[in-house]
Formats: sequence, C-alpha cells, structure tokens
Amino acid sequence: MLVSHLYLFAVFLLFSLSSSYIVEDDGHWPWHKTKYLTRTNWTSALKADTSTSKVRQPVWIVFYYLTYCGFCKLAEPGWEAAAQYATGWSRYLRLGAYDCASESSSQNDICEDEGYPQWRIFCPLTNSTQLAFNSERRSGNVKPEDILMWSIKKLNKIAHVCYGKTWPVRHVIEPQSLDDLNRVIPPNYKNFQLFVSDDILLYSLYVLNNSKTVYKEPIFRLHTKNPVKSGVSLWKGSRNEHGEITLEPMDWTQAMKQFVLNVHNSSHSDKLESEKPGALRPTLTDVDSTVVWMVNKDLRRKLPTLFEDVKSWLNVLHTYYPGSESVKTFLYDLINFMNDRTTLTSKELQNYINSTSIIKLPDIKFDHCNGSDPTKRGYTCGLWLLFHSMTVKQALLAEDNKLPSDAKPIDVIVPIREFVRKFFLCEECVKHFTNMTSNAEHEIPSYKENVLYLWRGHNKVNERLRNEELSSDPAWPKVPFPTKQECNTCVRQVDENNDATEFDENEVYNYLKEKLFHLNIPCDSTWMRMNTSNSQHSVADLLPYGISGRMATILTKQHVSDEDLQIMDRDDVEHLFKNEYGFTFRDRKQFWNIVQKIQISENTNRKTEEIAHSPESLEHVYGFVEEEEKEESTDSKQHQLSHSNHLFENKVTSNIDDDDDKHSNSSSHLSISSGYIFTYPTILPSFSSSITHALQTNTIHKQWAAFINELARWVMSIKPCLREQHEYRAIGQTLYEKYPNIGTAGPKPWSFLCRSLSQRIRTERWQRRKAITMKNRKESQRKTLDRNNDMADFEILI
Ligand SMILES: Cc1cc2nc3c(=O)[nH]c(=O)nc-3n(C[C@H](O)[C@H](O)[C@H](O)COP(=O)(O)OP(=O)(O)OC[C@H]3O[C@@H](n4cnc5c(N)ncnc54)[C@H](O)[C@@H]3O)c2cc1C
Repeated sequence: MLVSHLYLFAVFLLFSLSSSYIVEDDGHWPWHKTKYLTRTNWTSALKADTSTSKVRQPVWIVFYYLTYCGFCKLAEPGWEAAAQYATGWSRYLRLGAYDCASESSSQNDICEDEGYPQWRIFCPLTNSTQLAFNSERRSGNVKPEDILMWSIKKLNKIAHVCYGKTWPVRHVIEPQSLDDLNRVIPPNYKNFQLFVSDDILLYSLYVLNNSKTVYKEPIFRLHTKNPVKSGVSLWKGSRNEHGEITLEPMDWTQAMKQFVLNVHNSSHSDKLESEKPGALRPTLTDVDSTVVWMVNKDLRRKLPTLFEDVKSWLNVLHTYYPGSESVKTFLYDLINFMNDRTTLTSKELQNYINSTSIIKLPDIKFDHCNGSDPTKRGYTCGLWLLFHSMTVKQALLAEDNKLPSDAKPIDVIVPIREFVRKFFLCEECVKHFTNMTSNAEHEIPSYKENVLYLWRGHNKVNERLRNEELSSDPAWPKVPFPTKQECNTCVRQVDENNDATEFDENEVYNYLKEKLFHLNIPCDSTWMRMNTSNSQHSVADLLPYGISGRMATILTKQHVSDEDLQIMDRDDVEHLFKNEYGFTFRDRKQFWNIVQKIQISENTNRKTEEIAHSPESLEHVYGFVEEEEKEESTDSKQHQLSHSNHLFENKVTSNIDDDDDKHSNSSSHLSISSGYIFTYPTILPSFSSSITHALQTNTIHKQWAAFINELARWVMSIKPCLREQHEYRAIGQTLYEKYPNIGTAGPKPWSFLCRSLSQRIRTERWQRRKAITMKNRKESQRKTLDRNNDMADFEILI
C-alpha cells in the first residue's frame, strides 16, 4: 500500500510540475484538452442521447470560470493538466470549461451567478430533460490531482445512478479461494484482470486509464490480504472452455507507467514577457469600457432580482462618474428609465441598451488596461480605475463645495464595497475586498482619506497577488504603487529592488488627484479653476505673446480659416481660447488677479516675474484689453488666412505644440486624449423617424430646431467638449452630402448648419450649467429653511 501511494505521489508530482498554458488571441482561454463548452454545445454535450436504450453519455465535470478573474486564471493550468491526463477516459468522464463571463444576461441559467472559480459535476440520465445531481458545486485550490481525485470519489458514489452496471470501477470482491473466484466473476467474462491493492483511488485510476478495453476485459479489485493472491500485484485472468480460471502475473511497474504524463511544459510567462502593452496612464476609454462591460454583464445578470440594488449603484455611479459625458448621459437616462418602473428583467435592459436608448454605448476597448493578451487585465483593471477615479471625483467635488449638504466621505466607498459584494463575480476577490473594507464606515474621516483608503487597500491586494504569477500580467508586475519613476515625490524610501517601502501620503494624494484619476474635466464648469497654479502657469505663458498672439496660434492650430471666421460668432472664438487657457476674454478680472498673483508671489519663477513686470509684456496685455471690444484682431485674421489650405486635414493632434504637454490638465489635452475626432466623412446619428422623414422629403427646414436639437444632443454624447471648427465642418459636409436639402446659401452650403449646431451646443451647455446652479441654490435655500425651522423649534421650546 505504501508503495502504491508513493507511486501515486510521484505521478502527481509530475503532474503538478508540468503545465501547459499557451495564450491565443481570440479572447477565449486556450483550452486545448479541456472541452470549451458554450451555450450552443451545452445541451448536446451534457444531455443523454435517448435515441438508444443504453446510456453511453459520459459524466461531465465542468469548470466554471470568468475570463477576467485572477483566481480562475490560477486554476486553468491545473484543469488543462487534469484534462490531458483524462483524455482516454472520455467514454466515462469528460472535463469541460464554461466561461460565465460570456453568459448572455438574459440567459444566465447555466452559471446562476455563483462565485467563481468553481466546478460542478453533471451526470446525464436516460431522461433527457434532467441532469442528475444538479450540478454539485466545488471550489477552492485546484491542483490536477484534486480535480481527478474529487471526480473519482464522486463518481464512485453516484455511478450506480448515472451508469447503472456499465460503470467499470467495481466494488472490491472477496473470494475465499480460486474456486470461489470462479463463482464471483460472472461466467460470461473470458478475460479479466485482478488488481490487488487497498487503494481504491489508484484502482479507479487504473480502470479509467483502461477505459477503452475495460468493458471487454473487466478489472476486479481484491484487498491485499486475500486468500487468492496477496500483496500489491496485478493479474491477468482467463477462463478456458471448461470454465477453469488461470491467473498470469502482469508487470505492476510497467502498468503503473501509464500514470506518468508527458505534458508539454511551456510557461506562458516566457511567452508574454514582452513590451508593456497599453497606455501608461488611465484614460476615459478605460473607464467607459469598464462601465459598458459592467452594465452589460455584472448588472444585467442580476436583474430582476437585484433591481433596487442596481438602481442605487447606478445613482452613485452617475453622481461620481469620472468617464465620458456620453456614458454619463446614458447612465442618467437609464436611471430615469428605471425610476419609471417597479422592475426590470435583464432582457428588458438589453432591449433598452440596444434599441431604446438614444445614446449608443461605445465598444469595449482598453487603453491603459490593455493586457499582454485578452485574458489579462481588462475589466478588473478598469474596475480599479473606475473606483479610484470615483473617490477622486468625490474629493474634487467636495473641494469645490459641489456635494449635497448631507454628503459624507463614505458615500462612495461603501457603495463600491456593496457593488463588489453583490455584483462582482470573482469569489476570492469579493471575499478579500469586503473583508478589507468591512470597517470603512468607521475608518474614513475625510474625502482625502477616502482616496487614500482605497489606494492603501489596492496596494494590499497588489502585495497579496505579487507572487501569484498567473493572476497578473507579467508586463505589469504587481509592485507598491506608485513607483518612484511614476511619482518621485510620493516615494520616501525604496528597498533593494527599488520598490517603495515608505510613501509621502500627501504627495500620493496629489498624484492620484491631479495627475492620475482626474479623468473627466467637464468642459463647461469646473475646469475653470482660476486659482490653481496651472492657471498661473497659463497666464505666465500668455504674457510674452499677448492674448492676440496666442489667439492666432490657437486658430492656426485648430485650422480655423478666414472663411470659418465668417461663420463663427464671438462666443466660438472665446471658447477656443477658454479651451486652451481656462478662461475667456471676458474674465478680465480673474485674469488680472492672476497676473497680480504672479507678480507678488515670492516663489514665482524669475523669468515669469521679469516678463510680468516688463513694460513690453504689459503693453501686450493692455493691447488685448483695448482690442477686446473689437470683433477680432486683424493680426490673427492674417495669420489664419495663410492657413486656410489646411482646412480638411483633420489632424488635431499633429499640430499640438510643446505647450500642451505642460498643461496636462487642460481640457484641450483631455479632449484630444479622450475623444473621438470627427473627420470627414464622419459618422452620423440615426435621427428619429420624423426627422429622417423630413430629411428625405426635403421638408427639414420646417423642423430645423428639432433637427438641430437631435444632432446637438448626439454630438455632445460623443464629444461634450467639441469646439474644433474642422470637426463641425466634417459633420456639416457629411450631412450635406447625404441630404443636400440641408444646404443654404453662404460660404459653404453646410455653414448655416454648423453655426446652428454650435449655437445649440453652447445653449445646451449653458442650460446644464444653469441646472446645476439652480440645484445648488435650492439646496442652500433648503438648508437655510431647515436652520430657521430649527431655530423656531428652539424658540418654542424655551
Ligand atoms: C475590488 C477588486 C478586488 C480584487 N481582488 C483580487 C483578488 O483577491 N485576487 C486576484 O487574483 N485578483 C483580484 N482582483 C484583480 C486584480 O487586483 C487586478 O485587477 C488584476 O490582477 C489585473 O492587474 P493589473 O496589473 O491590471 O493592475 P490592477 O491591480 O488592476 O491596477 C490597475 C491600475 O491601477 C493603478 N494602481 C495600481 N495600484 C494602485 C494603488 N494602490 N492605488 C491606486 N492605483 C493603483 C495602476 O495604474 C494599475 O495599472 C481584484 C480586482 C478588484 C477590482
């Protein structure tokens, strides 16, 4: 017995050391030996074939996983090794894998939203409508031997139901003599084997490894202490025509060799150790893609059961959403849609996303979270980015006094924890994260602390996963974040590997807040932060050139031609400037305040000081103030004229000069990094049926306002900060070519449309700003009223 166990151990050791993991590019895991199951092949694979009376269908052990779950990834090589070992057993047992992330939310009956990874056993019966032992579940550490041992033990228990007498692993026989053996072994077996061992698992393995012959030559087991053949051994039995049994010894060692696998050992990490894929910094696309995935998968599959939870998470997500305006608008509309209902099925949500919503969600594409292969990073990375940016957004709103009066620092982290607990399907992740944040309500005294709380928590996860090679992307090793390279001032001390061991938390906070997770600076309000050092920098940059000079540069950069200027109104020009510098021509007072600040600041860079005091530069500034009353400077006009030939180049980024890099927080930088660029011919919206009809029947001028309204709303959903003239032009020209009846007289037939559109977009932005101001005003009125009421109550009391 000891010998056989030792042998088994050696066999499995070989197993464990060898793992085959090769990554493919089709988005699925590279199941080579494990059968990749899908909803389409699920029924045919798992249900019994009732066309014959015999049950020949194998039992299935199915690994349930999520492509994006680190623990699932850890288990995958174990499954491949087990499946490779069991390839010969397919008559009785098959190993399959099912990606629960691929479940369509309207049909999630296969996965049933449990934690992952897990595996289940399916035993087909003759009754095709039923799967016996309704998927008994198992999860945890997955070594190949665990999978196989568990499967065999399980099968030995349930085989009589699944297979009846066809199950080849038999109960031990206890003959008292050779003659008795002849009686115990049914007379129809001419050939058979005797496996003498007390180890039922080893016996089961041996039987299953002989799956192809065992039904003709059954294998019986005897205890090692038996009167026929004692001691661990293997015998070949045969019955002659007189019914007499003879036993020939078989080579045990030779027979055991079949347990040893020759698994091709290739480490995926060797293959993947390559260049870092993905952008170095998080982008809006990362966050948007995460939400698209989340809504389509995690949230949808929990409907209608967790309808109220989905709604409250969407509310928090919308309030602190750091991604694009279009996804934010989508969330807003969806919340309203849900508010009008008492329930929502996942199918109804799917219909809403695909048909009802006027905002079409973007395709999923990860920039910073792009992994070395499709199974790495992606959604989980995006989730972290989303969570961090939400805490940052909350801190920024608090700084700007834009949070409701009853807001608390835990308003974001607690819903995040609840989201993870209720919707995130990676079981281990949920366990750890909810444990880690279980006391959040009592640990977070401020908004800043909230940002740092999540940062510390994420670093704990990084540390835990550091050595779990398969869960992380080798191109993005798990190290304390941020590294010294990423933020020099954040790191106080490093170890011999240059990993941070001590941080300056104030610097970390600033880094996360200013540089990293402040993704979406809305184009219409908060980005105008005149008192920030950034604006001082911008003003300093302006002084040597004067407003006019800088304006001319901007117009050139934006390919604004003389012709464009004829159709642009003053606001458009101002917005171009504001886009670049954070304030408009009209914000003179603020401008001068900043100039003064620059002049008196002790820390101001000498060069700036000199410039600010130089009579020459002030002349520029005064020059601007006087010029301000004029429509535009002749200077810039001339400048623009010479550039009108760039009209249709449509390459915004190519013309960005070095200045832009310095203003990494400016919205021009963001619109370029985050946004879609409308280039001619561009994408166009699908209009409502009445507008489409009007466009097709040459009656659009009767519905011009509604038409422009729809167009503006759609444009803003794609690009809320659209200000580039060439992009307006691309939209106008493309529309004109499709529907010539939108054309009017003017410099270009589409000029009128461009102008209407830009005016409508400005109005829309203004209305949104006004709505926020009104909301804040109401809020403060409510507070005053509450205070007065409290006072009145107090007075009554005394
Ligand atoms: C809530 C949650 C819990 C998880 N728990 C587990 C788990 O228990 N086991 C498991 O295997 N996987 C877990 N995951 C997945 C895992 O943390 C990673 O997301 C995954 O391994 C991909 O790693 P990554 O290299 O893309 O970087 P991620 O860790 O996903 O980080 C994404 C980005 O965030 C930034 N970042 C990194 N560290 C910090 C920090 N401390 N503060 C701020 N920003 C930072 C970096 O820019 C990084 O590229 C969890 C994911 C989430 C969202």
